[in-house]
Amino acid sequence: MTTLTYDDNNIFAKILAGAIPSHNVYEDDKTLAFMDVMPQAKGHVLVVPKQKAVDLSQLTPDYAQAVLMTAQKVMQAQRQVFEREGIVQMQLNGAQAGQTVFHYHMHLIPASLHELGKHGAQLADRDELANLANALKAAIAD
Ligand code: 5GP
Repeated sequence: MTTLTYDDNNIFAKILAGAIPSHNVYEDDKTLAFMDVMPQAKGHVLVVPKQKAVDLSQLTPDYAQAVLMTAQKVMQAQRQVFEREGIVQMQLNGAQAGQTVFHYHMHLIPASLHELGKHGAQLADRDELANLANALKAAIAD
């Protein structure tokens, strides 16, 4: 059973604290969007709230709204950069559902469901992630 006690040492808490590097796409006062290091498809982005929420059950309305607004920005940028309409929005609640990092995060994956690669399986090339992050960042700034 997943504990709903927030672990301050989870990997996304460390990314939010700037303690470990991430390829950021967008940031505001309530959210951060960055490239998934083990993408399920090229251009896989994660959106996290700057709130200590383990999963959806702990996300407060103000942060839920902020996550969705950031997700819209990211998704529009993915559509532009990858010239495709289809973006999978996914979010797993609890280990039983497949959640592996226990800080709420929304996945935005330029793919169709049957094209999705394995979950969190293979590290992407860092330079490619940096290039993709820059392209998405520029599209959001447009
Ligand atoms: P979950 O399984 O919790 O829904 O998704 C966790 C996601 O975080 C996975 O897709 C995995 O590839 C990604 N991930 C795990 N560790 C790191 C990391 O250190 N940096 C980044 N950017 N993504 C990570």
